[in-house]
Amino acid sequence: VPRVRFAPSPTGYLHLGGLRTALYNYLFAKSRNGSFILRIEDTDQTRKVEGSVEALLEDLKWAGIQCHEGPGIGGNYGPYVQSERVPIYQEYISKLLENGSAYKCFCTERRLNLLRRDAVRSQRIPKYDNRCRSLSEEDISEKIGAGTPYCIRFKLSSDCSAFEDLIFGGIAYDVSLNEGDPVLMKSDGFPTYHFANVVDDHLMDVTHVLRGVEWQISTTKHLQLYKAFGWTPPQFGHLPLIVNADGTKLSKRQSDVKVEDYRNNGIFPLALVNYITLSGGGFDHVPGTGVRVKSLDELAEEFQIDRISSHPSRLNPDLLQECNRLELKRQLQDDQLSQTLVTKLQDLIKQTYPTQNLNISQEHIRTVLNWAVVRVSKIEDLVSSKFGFLWILPSHNNLNINKELLDKLVEYLEEQEVFEEVVLKDKLREFSKNNDMKFPELMKVLRSVLSGLNEGPSVAEMMQLLGKTQSLERIKSVAR
Ligand code: GLU
Repeated sequence: VPRVRFAPSPTGYLHLGGLRTALYNYLFAKSRNGSFILRIEDTDQTRKVEGSVEALLEDLKWAGIQCHEGPGIGGNYGPYVQSERVPIYQEYISKLLENGSAYKCFCTERRLNLLRRDAVRSQRIPKYDNRCRSLSEEDISEKIGAGTPYCIRFKLSSDCSAFEDLIFGGIAYDVSLNEGDPVLMKSDGFPTYHFANVVDDHLMDVTHVLRGVEWQISTTKHLQLYKAFGWTPPQFGHLPLIVNADGTKLSKRQSDVKVEDYRNNGIFPLALVNYITLSGGGFDHVPGTGVRVKSLDELAEEFQIDRISSHPSRLNPDLLQECNRLELKRQLQDDQLSQTLVTKLQDLIKQTYPTQNLNISQEHIRTVLNWAVVRVSKIEDLVSSKFGFLWILPSHNNLNINKELLDKLVEYLEEQEVFEEVVLKDKLREFSKNNDMKFPELMKVLRSVLSGLNEGPSVAEMMQLLGKTQSLERIKSVAR
């Protein structure tokens, strides 16, 4: 049974890439009745951001991603927060010191800086020169006796570590070419990412590691650590970068990185989830056949790692809007969900027009929602200036109208029993003909009277939406 994990560092907000990693791990576990573990990698205390763990849990919950084990959830492999596991890392580092795979390094920050500076000056890749590898036992005891601080480094081998990436295929890389021996334990007794990550994946019985491609090179290093411990490594798959439609990198300045921003902008969780799965592959989506919003169960059933493309995943923002619209439609067809939408839109209207003492019926809101579902992708759109006329009286300036004619129109419309678009269209045409007025001319005036807009839905459509009473009231208010 597979055991997979999502192992974020609490250094900020959850971004799209992080959500994808969590989602794919979750779907993978779900598809095979496995376990999805959440582990917080907070060993770099300097980068920790207050409140980010809570925000992360909130985002995952919003997206519908459930963790089987993790902080606050429990499980047999805890604690699930790395800063609470320091004694475990200390125990395991001594194993590597004992078997000679790791060593104490006493180099000062000053020396390391000088090495770096020299490398940059002579245009070499800066890397630690592994000097403390060759310290004698006496040197070491002497330095320890003198209280010299030290870190613990791993002896990187120059063997090329090769592995079969579940997504990228064969990867072979000699890390020692570009890196000196990496630090496993810092002088303050805290482990580094690489060390804690490997120890925990092993102790938590993780079978598959699915993570971003930015960790692919590190994997070759991690494999050397597994070897040094004599452990069987998990299988690794690296998810390609998520990029904009034009191939450029996502940037924090655009509002399309933070999951929280999507959430606050009226995007539905399932829409965002489907959007992500549409860009990277791994599912049954058939290109060119239109989008369908799938449930997490459906996605899990379809998910196959070997269908994930190794090319960068290009986002297509149009698909997000389309997914959201489809999700809005789906929710409207469900009794309970649609009631939630009605209430939400009612609140939004109140917030948007706080000074108007509005009393808009749920029935009207429901009618508008059902009408809107082919026109907008989120309910927030319905309180934009384009649709404000649905809720509040329009303001119009310099209306050049024939009041008598409008009076006549009111009379004429009052007789109409059926106040529906198809009927109204014909009636309005008839009215313009009988009164020697050009139809487009009449429509222009009416559109402005009803909505204050120059364009938008057809006039008959507006009338049906507003209903007979409201439509006539608006016409009357300018007719007299
Ligand atoms: N803590 C790492 C991160 O924040 C986890 C990488 C991994 O999954 O191994 O991305």
